[in-house]
Amino acid sequence: MFDRILIANRGEIAVRIIRACRELNIKTVAVYSEADRSSMHVQMADDAVCIGPAASGESYLRIDRLIQAAQHSQADAIHPGYGFLSENAKFAASCIENGIQFIGPSAVTMDALEDKAVSRQLAKSAKVPIPPGSVGAVESKEEALRIAQEIGYPVMIKAVSGGGGRGMRVVHNDISLINAFNTARAEAEKCFGNSSVYVEKFIENPHHIEIQILGDSKGNIIHLGERDCSIQRRNQKLIEESPSPFLDEKKFKHLRKKIAQSAVELAQEAKYTNAGTVEFIVDGNGEYYFLEVNKRIQVEHPVTEQTTGHDIVKLQIQLAAGEPLGIRQRDIRSTGHAIECRINAEDPFNDFRPSPGMVEMLYTPGGRGIRFESHVYAGYNIPPHYDSMIGKLVSYGGDRNEAITIMSRALTEFLIKGVKTTVPFQMAILENPDFRRGVYTTGFVENYLNSAAQAPLQKPTI
Ligand code: ADP
Ligand code: ADP
Ligand code: MG
Repeated sequence: MFDRILIANRGEIAVRIIRACRELNIKTVAVYSEADRSSMHVQMADDAVCIGPAASGESYLRIDRLIQAAQHSQADAIHPGYGFLSENAKFAASCIENGIQFIGPSAVTMDALEDKAVSRQLAKSAKVPIPPGSVGAVESKEEALRIAQEIGYPVMIKAVSGGGGRGMRVVHNDISLINAFNTARAEAEKCFGNSSVYVEKFIENPHHIEIQILGDSKGNIIHLGERDCSIQRRNQKLIEESPSPFLDEKKFKHLRKKIAQSAVELAQEAKYTNAGTVEFIVDGNGEYYFLEVNKRIQVEHPVTEQTTGHDIVKLQIQLAAGEPLGIRQRDIRSTGHAIECRINAEDPFNDFRPSPGMVEMLYTPGGRGIRFESHVYAGYNIPPHYDSMIGKLVSYGGDRNEAITIMSRALTEFLIKGVKTTVPFQMAILENPDFRRGVYTTGFVENYLNSAAQAPLQKPTI
């Protein structure tokens, strides 16, 4: 087992990883930018190294400085968390070249799955359904037009390196496709440093269903069931749950099992090791299509931990250390129901504008069935430079109704002064009759925001 792990990340996920390391009796090294000097992960870790100025490009994205920090602090492994360099094959390769274990899939697998258009081809060879669209990247407007006409509008132009819900746009006809093509490429270059795009059929009103997988170095691959992440704003998840209320056994016999099986087959084709997530969209008829593989820990992994009882971050570390998967597929039991709300420092009353700044006061929910993952504390100054997520509130109940009741109760207890959060919006969604019935698609939030008939948002009651 490793002696010392460097965590190449910040925020709640850095804290989450430190907790897993502590329980495994492994020392931790935090890295931080100048803007994160007073961040919780720096205080919690055994050791901490400053890796540069606030801008991520000068700190959390600097492979050279991270490797130097690991060498300097004698870390024998690096956990990349999510976002930043977590899915960067060059980073994984650099770690290995420098004798540091990368906690994630092999650099070869990362490389094979780095490009979303290339992953589509891999899915195809594993006989996993993909949305109709281009084979690989699309280089010219003419080619994009030809494909769009072949598969029929609407289509999506997507950046091969896109992530975090950015780098994709829907087009409905030839003219908008021609207009959008160059802008999409320019945006992809600006956001992801890679202008390559591909074209796929836009599936209307789909459900986002994803499968958590785990693989060891002996080629054993298992799955821990699905998560439904269809409550999204601008293609970015806001609320996630497991199991999915859409995958009703009576309506779609064996569909849950089929999707999970497809995820495992794709992972086998990619010789996948460590933890990963295979994302799908599913239409109203139960047809499902592969979207992408997230080659890292996922933001919403706690809902799966609550329903299966397995600690996915600990498993990541054990698998990276070469331990075999101690669990067989038939040992996996999913019980009860878990829901996660991503709490962002954004103002839902003002078009979700980021709301960084000083946290003057904080009371976080607790009680039966509640788990709260966060790096925020009273007196902490939320820097404006990074992601707006400040915490994840997870509820667990015997069934979906109980998980909703617990979540609604807990959201009313969340009290923060100094910054605005998405909590009032999530409280409103939890009250929505369609959400309560489990009848929603990825269009839910947009429809909700467009509907004037909705009740005004309520502030927390405490
Ligand atoms: P998940 O699928 O785990 O919910 P997201 O796609 O929402 O993950 O991304 C998790 C975090 O990583 C977010 O902070 C997001 O902004 C960031 N992220 C993911 N992919 C990229 C990328 N390619 N470039 C920049 N940031 C990214
Ligand atoms: P990211 O890397 O940003 O997570 P994904 O490809 O996983 O990008 O897509 C994110 C979300 O965008 C999906 O959950 C879904 O809501 C929407 N989306 C992506 N591709 C399609 C598609 N072909 N049809 C409909 N919605 C899509
Ligand atoms: Mg995705």
